Amino acid sequence: MAETLPTPDLPGSSSQIDKATSVSVLVVEDSAPFRLVIEASLSDAGYHLIFATTGTEGLEKAEELDPDVVLLDIGLPDMDGIEVCRRLRLFTDAYIIMVTGRNEEVDRLVGLSVGADDYIAKPFSARELALRIQVMLRRPRRPDPAGTPEELVEPDNASQAPTRVFGELELDVLAHEVRVAGQEISLTKIEFDLLTALSARPEMVYTRELLVETVWGTDWISDTHVVDVHMANLRKKIDIGGRRHIKTVRGVGYRLMPAALN
Ligand code: CA
Repeated sequence: MAETLPTPDLPGSSSQIDKATSVSVLVVEDSAPFRLVIEASLSDAGYHLIFATTGTEGLEKAEELDPDVVLLDIGLPDMDGIEVCRRLRLFTDAYIIMVTGRNEEVDRLVGLSVGADDYIAKPFSARELALRIQVMLRRPRRPDPAGTPEELVEPDNASQAPTRVFGELELDVLAHEVRVAGQEISLTKIEFDLLTALSARPEMVYTRELLVETVWGTDWISDTHVVDVHMANLRKKIDIGGRRHIKTVRGVGYRLMPAALN
């Protein structure tokens, strides 16, 4: 990752960077001052920065250069950042962080629903941004098959099998596939990770804090509200045919529906 790089790469240089060991960040941002802030925050960390100033250019560069992370401004001159995110998700599994204005709460939620992994609100500090990316990169791109911190996993044949079956809900952890009543459901990485976590200990109620720790990592600095947003999106996708699969335990957190545990 970044710390293995001998020297920070200069943004805009046609790098001699070894793609296998470096992290590239595509910054889609039309405001020059913000590009400077981002450049100052991230180039020290050794990330390879790529800049785009419009949604169209961002999409082109994402397709061409396959970045690991996309930092995506919501307000772009040619296209809404939400639309850019939606289109990015058609071909890339990169981590996407939406950059929103202070009063764009609604846009943040919409951003997460079209596949962004996180959001950060302007103004943000250089340190906050660098930390967000660092923590995000620590999340495995494919979830750990156990889906839960090791100390919480007891040997349990049902939940450790590669395919976990709960009534109509089937989760193939290794193949990264989810089916409901035989129909394949397309989930974002975070939605899949949340479901993997819940299904690792189906009898247990997961607190939001534990889900954050399991899915985002122990030093995640976002608030736990993000869990509710992703959980709502996950439910919209898997609760088809009138069946509910995830139970909200008021004041505590979430678990799989007992009724689904045949
Ligand atoms: Ca903007």
